[in-house]
Amino acid sequence: MIHLKKLKLEMILKSLGLRNRGVKIISCPSCARQAFQVIDTVKILEEKLSHIKAPVTLSIIGCVVNGPGEAAMTDIGITGGGKGNNMLYLSGVQSEKVLTEDIIKKVVLEVEKKASELEKKS
Ligand code: SF4
Repeated sequence: MIHLKKLKLEMILKSLGLRNRGVKIISCPSCARQAFQVIDTVKILEEKLSHIKAPVTLSIIGCVVNGPGEAAMTDIGITGGGKGNNMLYLSGVQSEKVLTEDIIKKVVLEVEKKASELEKKS
């Protein structure tokens, strides 16, 4: 319970720009156009990435309406695409297609890689 409260406080501080530490996730509100379950995916990623201290930005967007634009402004981005054609972006550049069932695993891997790069630089 305390862990959950701490996590929520961290999220609030990050969204207000008061805490520049850890993964900052930008997501769309989701709608009928989403190619995967955006809200559930974000919830799982928040938990799985809560150990990251480096300031990595991540966009999780349900479709191409806003996906490429948000991906251009984040370190790592996922944009939903039909029939499992979700696209992974690294530093705003298209990288590879990711099947819906692989999104969590792939994003965690890429965020950990990016965090490690940032930690080496600091
Ligand atoms: S980005 Fe796509 S899925 Fe997300 S809210 Fe906008 S239209 Fe809906």
